Amino acid sequence: MNKIAEIFTSLDYGPAPESPDVALAWLSAHDNTFGHFINGAWTKPGKTFATENPATNKPLAQITDGTAADVDAAVKAARAAFPKWSALSGYQRGKYLYAIARLIQKHSRLFAVLETMDNGKPIRESRDVDIPLVARHFYHHAGWAQHREREFPDHVPYGVCGQIIPWNFPLLMLAWKIAPALAAGNTVVLKPAEFTSLTALLFAEICEKAKLPKGVVNIVTGEGDTGAAITSHPDIDKIAFTGSTEVGKIIRKATAGTGKGLSLELGGKSPYIVFDDADIDSAIEGLVDAIWFNQGQVCCAGSRLLVQESIETRFLEKLKKRMSTLRVGDPLDKAVDIGALVAPVQVARVTELVKKGIAEGGQLYEPDIDLPPGGGCFLRPALITGVSPANTVASEEIFGPVLVEMSFRTPEEAVALANNTRYGLAATIWTENVNLALDIAPKLKAGVVWINSTNNFDAAVGFGGYKESGFGREGGREGMASYLKPAWEKELKPFVAAAPKAAKSANPLDDIGSIDQTAKMYIGGKQARPDSGYSRPVLSPTGALVGEVGDGNRKDIRNAVEAARAALGWSTTSAHNRAQILYFLAENLEYRADEFAARIKAQTGEDGASEVAASVERLFAFAGWADKYDGAVHNPPQRMVATAMVEALGTMAILAPPSRPLLGSIALVAPALAMGNTVVLVPSEKSPLSMTDFYQVLETSDVPSGVLNIVTGESKVLAKTLAEHDGIDAIWFAGDAETSKMVEAASAGNVKQTWTSRGLYYDLSDKQKFEGDYFLRRATQVKNVWIPYGA
Ligand code: NDP
Repeated sequence: MNKIAEIFTSLDYGPAPESPDVALAWLSAHDNTFGHFINGAWTKPGKTFATENPATNKPLAQITDGTAADVDAAVKAARAAFPKWSALSGYQRGKYLYAIARLIQKHSRLFAVLETMDNGKPIRESRDVDIPLVARHFYHHAGWAQHREREFPDHVPYGVCGQIIPWNFPLLMLAWKIAPALAAGNTVVLKPAEFTSLTALLFAEICEKAKLPKGVVNIVTGEGDTGAAITSHPDIDKIAFTGSTEVGKIIRKATAGTGKGLSLELGGKSPYIVFDDADIDSAIEGLVDAIWFNQGQVCCAGSRLLVQESIETRFLEKLKKRMSTLRVGDPLDKAVDIGALVAPVQVARVTELVKKGIAEGGQLYEPDIDLPPGGGCFLRPALITGVSPANTVASEEIFGPVLVEMSFRTPEEAVALANNTRYGLAATIWTENVNLALDIAPKLKAGVVWINSTNNFDAAVGFGGYKESGFGREGGREGMASYLKPAWEKELKPFVAAAPKAAKSANPLDDIGSIDQTAKMYIGGKQARPDSGYSRPVLSPTGALVGEVGDGNRKDIRNAVEAARAALGWSTTSAHNRAQILYFLAENLEYRADEFAARIKAQTGEDGASEVAASVERLFAFAGWADKYDGAVHNPPQRMVATAMVEALGTMAILAPPSRPLLGSIALVAPALAMGNTVVLVPSEKSPLSMTDFYQVLETSDVPSGVLNIVTGESKVLAKTLAEHDGIDAIWFAGDAETSKMVEAASAGNVKQTWTSRGLYYDLSDKQKFEGDYFLRRATQVKNVWIPYGA
């Protein structure tokens, strides 16, 4: 070896420390003690707790533990500020966001150093990733503020938003929440995580410097209880949460029935898939970023490595070699790859999970590299091989520098393994074959897919999960949309149901004719008798018997869900094909208009002809949308495009309103089917015969078996079963407030998306409101696929 080559192999890194002095001076200018930032002013510190530097375990400052009274004061300030702030022109609001972006850039070093000291992440990351992205978010949303009215006509901000963020990207998560909220015209109360409040407090000072009107941004520090005081506050209009799936579910339950807007960005166990034709060296560098970025404390970390079997040995060898060159150390050292975990409790949690992984048969590899002397929350990067999908470490979010590896043989197996998780936040694909990459991307159930790259983020590109990784998006148009609601929603009035007529006789046998003409349910393309063996009478407004339907139960729902899931190929049929089928449905319904009109009249006494005509028109409308409601191609600063693909949610449960026996179901089912969902429908409890008649139309219209399943019965009972069913991805319930609340609370089990009418009257015949975007948006989710593009 020549001398220079020798030097390169033996050369060690010298220290490259970033000075903490300015950050320490900022802390001491505050006597290292902070109150809250409420109504544009600092409160006196109350009961405090220490925030520590996890690299040294030494305290940095005392933070006030917010009480319910503090939260209340912040909400009052935000409420008082809302009318003026929301009435500013978009241009005026945009200028404030622009000023904030400029000030963040100006003080970016201080922010980066403070973030690194409080959180433990390497300065390389806080300086080069977190803070630039924070500034980018405020710039990007300055533009959205200005264009909001043009781009979101007839929409208004929610009002006061309660925002709760985690400790892994303290300032970045704040920016993801505050920038779109303010751009849309909301005011906010934000709680940072207890471990990492400092940059949020520095941000409050930036708001002061930008002369943001008082009360528009309020920062209340504290622990989980403070967060709970926010989620339960009656005068908050929307909750935005990022954190663990466990707390996300608690918040889903706590907000059930309140009408609060809700977005949840939760955990993940994201697959990192390497095919045998991948550029292995690049894939390994990507992997370093995927799992050791921020010590693996990243919700979208590529924590499950899936490698094609034929290259597994070679890949793992190279990976181990690369792991042995990673440098764990003082996060303020600019040449350090891996810093400190956020707190001792996180080190203990990760260590415990690794132990469990080994106990369950996994093999642990940790490179023989030094950890900094003198304590601190440091861990070596770890790789666990020899695990199966059922192992704890392969299924649970570890949230630490621990990679778990499995192999696969075929692309089909890669997809099956990748999707074999309750989460669905992100996924990464490495292959040199563009066909393979673009074949796999749509098959992955994840909100973000990175091709030949990883951990790309941008303000213009929505981020958020499928399944138990939550719902709602942050960034881009979708992110803005989640801080706005239709202006007409505040005018909704309570639904007043007509008094139910009792059956003429209390004896169920008296209502039954001499021949059994009970309308069957419709499951998997076949007529089905109810499992219960019981039927329910359907009465006219005068109480006369019009017919009977089956009394559906849990078993019928299970069968219907199974059939609907088996029909999910519907979501990958072409939109053109779905449009054709919906047009055909409309046409065939129109052929039988008289018969359907008569049936409506018999059940409700109302003019059936106009309801049938409206239903035909609605089917036409959504047939028209099927191939038009689609995505966008974003142009982020990286050399990539991000294609925002509009995808179906999966299998939806739809419980139709009691009124309008035909249109009530069609208005909800048509957008769901148009977007590729399969549906389990519970038609109007009172007047279900229009939809049991409808299966004859389905049968003549080429609708594939299982795409629409109809179960009749008591709406409230069936809603509970459906809301609790893990095979249902989203549930819409039109009915009373109490059942709406139950549906929302029960949906927490697998974090279903919900829409409920909460006892309010939604006039579904209103074309202006319901023939377009309103239900289409709720029937879909956006997947952003990042693709390398351009030189
Ligand atoms: P949490 O989900 O508990 O915390 C997120 C935020 O919610 C924090 O501000 C927290 O406050 C607050 N909070 C806690 N409980 C409630 C409640 N009942 N109501 C309202 N707000 C609440 O995450 P942790 O910080 O406790 O971390 C636990 C685990 O969660 C980690 O080990 C990791 O696995 C996972 N996690 C996942 C994240 C992700 O983005 N996927 C982010 C953070 C954690 P406080 O900090 O004061 O407790």
